[in-house]
Amino acid sequence: MKKQDIILLAVIVIVLLPAVILLLNTGKGGTAVVRSDGNVIDTISLDKNGTYSYSNEHGYNIVEITDGKVRVIEADCPNQDCVNKGYIKRNNESVICLPHRFEVTIKAKDDEYDIIR
Ligand SMILES: [Zn+2]
Repeated sequence: MKKQDIILLAVIVIVLLPAVILLLNTGKGGTAVVRSDGNVIDTISLDKNGTYSYSNEHGYNIVEITDGKVRVIEADCPNQDCVNKGYIKRNNESVICLPHRFEVTIKAKDDEYDIIR
C-alpha cells in the first residue's frame, strides 16, 4: 500500500466510525450517560425532568434534565466550563468537567430523530 492510500483509509475510518456508532445506537430510549473517572456511574432517562447530583474525590456536579435537554447547573470546579457549556441535546453530545474527570453524554432514542434535527 502506498502512503497516500493509508492516509485515505485512515480518513475513511475516521469519517465512517461515528456514523457506524450512530447506526448501532438504535432502538433505545434517550438517556444521559454519566461517567466519572472514565467509568459509567449512572444512566438517566431524558424523559424524566429532574436534578441529579454526583460527587467523586475531585468534587461535585449537579446535572439537570429538562425536556430532553441536559446541563450541569452547579459544580465546585475552578474553571466552571461544565456549567458554562449550557444545555446539550444532540446525540453523542457531551458536557465534560475536566477537573472532576466527570462527563455526561447524550444517547438519543434513534438516529432518525437526530438526523431530522
Ligand atoms: Zn466543571
